[in-house]
Amino acid sequence: MKEQIYTIPVNEVYDTDCECPLCELEKKLEKETLDYALGAAMMEPEFRMESNEKGFCNHHCSMLFGMSNKLALSLVLDTHLEEIRKKLDTLKKSASALKNQKGGLFKKTGLADFSKALSEKLDGISDGCVVCDKINHTMERYADVLLYMWANDEKFKEKFNKSKGVCLKHMKLLVDTVPKSLKDSQAAQFLACLFEKQETELSRIQQDIHKFTLKFDYRNKDMEWGTAQDAPIRTIDKISGFINNDYEEK
Ligand SMILES: [Zn+2]
Ligand SMILES: [Zn+2]
Repeated sequence: MKEQIYTIPVNEVYDTDCECPLCELEKKLEKETLDYALGAAMMEPEFRMESNEKGFCNHHCSMLFGMSNKLALSLVLDTHLEEIRKKLDTLKKSASALKNQKGGLFKKTGLADFSKALSEKLDGISDGCVVCDKINHTMERYADVLLYMWANDEKFKEKFNKSKGVCLKHMKLLVDTVPKSLKDSQAAQFLACLFEKQETELSRIQQDIHKFTLKFDYRNKDMEWGTAQDAPIRTIDKISGFINNDYEEK
């Protein structure tokens, strides 16, 4: 039996009417992880070591900056910056050697080696995000239990079949999890069912977004909106996963 800390949220989220239940779970998880990063994690040496090493991606920096706890944020940034400077410091000698080289072939190779090493170092610094890592790890668990429940729990399977499918990002997550979580016969059944569902749901979304464009023609001003009124945001939700739409005109 799968752990209940994962099965319960997956089961519950499939009671909500939305474009992607996995996005709903991820949204909640993201908020919890950000709250944790500037809250309880401040006292967790292990998490602090991880956040010093990996830091945060641009998206999560922006969300952390929007939170009220500027002292916790500054403490985290202070020690992370220290770590970044240590990493750059490993290239200090090569940088000064470059300055003193007089030219010729050695200068050329030294220059190429240095710029490659520096570029890789910068990639390593900007690649990580402790929040993304935590979210991805838990989302993989959620995908695994979703597949388990689909194969073993008729009630859940029914909920899944009635749902509006998932976004393309989470469709890929499910597809990539299938080989690890399901036996071949179940895997084939699930993939066929997922593919068919997604085709139906993408076609439904297409009808809505197309209708939305038609409403801009004055000849269609009396046409009923039906389900098309919020088609742009739902289309984006479906194609690229949940976005923060706080910028939307109210
Ligand atoms: Zn999603
Ligand atoms: Zn991130």
